[in-house]
Amino acid sequence: MKKILKVNDLSVSFETYGTDVQAVRGVSFELEEKETLAIVGESGSGKSVTAYSIMRLIDMPPGKFDGGTILFNGEDLTLKSEKQMQEIRGKEISMIFQDPMTSLNPTMTIGKQISESLIKHQNMSKKQASSRGVELLKLVGIPNPETRINQYPHQYSGGMRQRAMIAIALACNPKILIADEPTTALDVTIQAQILELMRDLQEKTGTAIILITHDLGVVSSVASRVAVMYGGKIVETGNVDEIFYNPKHPYTWGLLGSMPKVDSKGEELLAIPGSPPDLADPPKGCPFVTRCPYAMKVCRNNMPEYTHLSDTQKTACWLLDERAPQVEIPETAIVGGYKQHV
Ligand code: SF4
Repeated sequence: MKKILKVNDLSVSFETYGTDVQAVRGVSFELEEKETLAIVGESGSGKSVTAYSIMRLIDMPPGKFDGGTILFNGEDLTLKSEKQMQEIRGKEISMIFQDPMTSLNPTMTIGKQISESLIKHQNMSKKQASSRGVELLKLVGIPNPETRINQYPHQYSGGMRQRAMIAIALACNPKILIADEPTTALDVTIQAQILELMRDLQEKTGTAIILITHDLGVVSSVASRVAVMYGGKIVETGNVDEIFYNPKHPYTWGLLGSMPKVDSKGEELLAIPGSPPDLADPPKGCPFVTRCPYAMKVCRNNMPEYTHLSDTQKTACWLLDERAPQVEIPETAIVGGYKQHV
């Protein structure tokens, strides 16, 4: 499969109250055509900043690139002008957000919002854009699209607004769709429908998806590969089976332990004790050191290198060093039948 995006050693910081917050610290990953890569982690892990960096939606003050490259079709997006990025956003790379109400324009009909990008990026006439709009609404499962196209966002339900936003994002057949917590604001039944829709659309359109989420249940439903982020770094990456059935990083164990299990009816979910590191003064060594029950002296001041466990899985943890004590995966992280949302 062709690699369409290569993020290499990306670092991004924000200036807040005169202090640099190092939100993303040396992140590297690749995205292949037609695949779904999930980037998972708690809030503050750097996953959303990584996604927004690809869209170059952080480089207005106070966000800035401190290093690294984002290669899309072989060209470095960090070097593009705002004008060049406007050509890429929506046409080549699209994004959908957690709350469609904040990204849909409440004063414009859904049809007008779909037509705008078709007219701008595809040189369609108003009439062509309108009939393509109806097709797109139909594709994402909006009933009576011929009528609904003339309605405003407030006339749609929450699930329909999310479907409409997906229609807008897919209007120009983008190569990459970035979905930032696309189902978090929706109730469980609608979540399942939207995830099903995303899977279905990917099969039909072949668009590669980067899914940003804190919810491993969502990951198991749609992703093929997973990157686990913590403290601005990718601490473990692998395909879905590796991350769910052979995880090696204690933070991944914590995330799996905090997932609802099929047989855990009524049991409390296990939160990971402690809080994420202060990225205004990030730890020198492993970012998880203050919360990790297996932390050793070496973890405090030395960032572990990646250990390659397979062609697709790599993990940054000192426990994988041959001199480290043998640690078994905790029972809470063993996924016997993780609860899928779909
Ligand atoms: Fe825990 Fe050390 Fe591994 Fe970090 S490197 S996850 S602190 S054992």
